[in-house]
Amino acid sequence: MTTNPHLLDPFACPSCGRALNAATNALPHEACPPRTGDFTVCLHCNTILAFMEGGAVRLLRPGEFETLHPVNQCTLLSVQLMIMTLPRSPISFHDQKG
Ligand SMILES: [Zn+2]
Repeated sequence: MTTNPHLLDPFACPSCGRALNAATNALPHEACPPRTGDFTVCLHCNTILAFMEGGAVRLLRPGEFETLHPVNQCTLLSVQLMIMTLPRSPISFHDQKG
């Protein structure tokens, strides 16, 4: 993952409705902003989205994920896993067994 997100015009996730305004290249050798047909993952709900003309995004069509190259499937799943491990709130807890 790179640490330089591309700032985008704000758009709403079609799955959760929350605002998104940036995208980060998943592959370190890529440094361009998202283009039509590129995929992204919502940072809020972890839904895979596809960029459309004009910077809007859409949900994947049924079965579309399965048509992607296996490397791209793995990349998207890795991004989803990374998002799932991000700290979401300052709330923490200790295992009660310890
Ligand atoms: Zn979302």
